Amino acid sequence: MTDKDADRAPNFIRDIIREDLLAGKNQGMVVTRFPPEPNGYLHIGHAKSICLNFGMAAEFPGGRCHLRFDDTNPVKEEEEYIRSIRQDVRWLGFDWGEHLYHASDRFEKLFEFAERLIRRGKAYVCDLSAEEIRAYRGTLTEPGRESPYRDRPAEESLDLLRRMRAGEFPDGSRVLRARIDMASPNLNMRDPVMYRILHTPHPRTGNRWCIYPMYDFAHGQCDAIEGITHSLCTLEFEDHRPLYDWFLDNLETGRRPRQIEFARLNMTHTVLSKRKLLRLVNEGHVTGWDDPRMPTLSGMRRRGYTPESIRAFCDRIGVARRDNLVDISLLEYYVREDLNRTAPRVMAVLAPLRVVIENYPEDLVEELDAVNNPEDPGAGTRKVPFSREFFIEREDFMEEPPKKFFRLAPGREVRLRYAYLVTCTGVVKDLATGEVTELRCTYDPATRGGDAPDGRKVKATLHWVSAARALRAEVRLYDHLCLKEDPSAGDDGGDFLSNLNPASRVTLADCRVEPSLAGAPPGSRFQFERQGYFCTDSRDTSADRLVFNRTVTLKDSWARISKREQKP
Ligand code: ATP
Ligand code: MG
Repeated sequence: MTDKDADRAPNFIRDIIREDLLAGKNQGMVVTRFPPEPNGYLHIGHAKSICLNFGMAAEFPGGRCHLRFDDTNPVKEEEEYIRSIRQDVRWLGFDWGEHLYHASDRFEKLFEFAERLIRRGKAYVCDLSAEEIRAYRGTLTEPGRESPYRDRPAEESLDLLRRMRAGEFPDGSRVLRARIDMASPNLNMRDPVMYRILHTPHPRTGNRWCIYPMYDFAHGQCDAIEGITHSLCTLEFEDHRPLYDWFLDNLETGRRPRQIEFARLNMTHTVLSKRKLLRLVNEGHVTGWDDPRMPTLSGMRRRGYTPESIRAFCDRIGVARRDNLVDISLLEYYVREDLNRTAPRVMAVLAPLRVVIENYPEDLVEELDAVNNPEDPGAGTRKVPFSREFFIEREDFMEEPPKKFFRLAPGREVRLRYAYLVTCTGVVKDLATGEVTELRCTYDPATRGGDAPDGRKVKATLHWVSAARALRAEVRLYDHLCLKEDPSAGDDGGDFLSNLNPASRVTLADCRVEPSLAGAPPGSRFQFERQGYFCTDSRDTSADRLVFNRTVTLKDSWARISKREQKP
């Protein structure tokens, strides 16, 4: 077992593909695809599917994975979504090479397939309204009724289908249906609709079509046309598999991709349905699809998550058929792991409290050496300026400290990281409010670098920034978007909005960061010492404005949870 395997969870699909290869199926080929519908942005659930499909293709020699847009519904699909999906798959680290496809590239072929089925007595044009079709369909316990148009001659259906295509009929007036079995226990087999009339232009085919294939009629045929060997999809498609097989058998395409279903990713405190995410965007609960609180890949990218951490997470959760709910702190754990290795350390004060060192020269600025990343000796050191006035974190001082508070308090000595030991000698207060507005201190010049020559110890090391040299910054702190651990539990369809976390974003407008952060390009990631991982916001940071997103805190709640779970 390699190191990588140790962290890799079971994946039953890998086992199936291995068996197929051993049995000599598909001429030893593995061809998978990721088939998004371009009706929203990709989210972390899609990342699971992307990692699985591209991952399996990469694992087997000669394997390949296609990116296919299942763009059969022009009403909800947009060019913006297509662009974002391509960008997100690339960002995650995957490459479809020349294998970029669209279901809409096959509209002509699919139409031919439809005509073939009509000629074989396997499809017919039906004039029932949508409502009637629903009423005729029956229920899980009752068989459906046959449409009065079911035995219409093939010639008549062919003629009507062509006229539907030519635009002679209004939306909803007719559909093309498969002629299968109105008594089938599987509702998907009760003469499902194959084509509907939609006088809506399509992002790719423009006004060329006014009839569009249903997803179920397009999907399996696209797989077959592209030569997909393993069609991996989520469990809700299990009941559609007989229909996909029926189409392929009756079309005699000669190809039958093997469809394997797996469980969707569900994550605590997170909604992963495009319909719900669209509502969050449209109703202004978030600032957009790439709001750093969104579970979308674009939101996570903006928040500072790395593709490596998302891939490591997907590897770790594995692939199974059983539905489950993954703790969001597992994802955060992988983000933290990756950033701990790679993010440079800097000092930033989120809630500044001014401190003046009374025995430090007025005009002196010392350049002190600070370590960029203790995890990476190659990352080197940088200079941070120290001067008579500096800021510390408001919560690092207490006027009347309780027993276990070891940070700064009147009369107490602490270490300033990379600088000196300082002792608090006085407190300045706002006379009206009683609020502490400034601290007075003395420093011990012999402790430069942070250690006392006489060996005396202090119990706390604080981060700080020079008041004279610090830069102003805005910092946005994020927390879970949903208060409920399982937002879909007891879901009646709509009311996930009532459990949104009102404190999911807290903006701190007046923070101070060390001057080395000047000009940090959008999307740069850092560890703010003692605070967490942060990155410059890619939309709002500019040459004269620094805006940071908190990616994740330093505290590892996952370690706590797994320890708790390991206890007998
Ligand atoms: P939604 O139900 O949120 O609208 P979808 O499944 O309809 O999402 P698609 O664009 O059809 O969205 O998804 C593309 C692929 O990603 C599909 O193969 C789908 O099975 C897979 N996928 C979607 N959501 C998840 C998830 N939560 N976990 C794993 N795979 C997913
Ligand atoms: Mg779907």
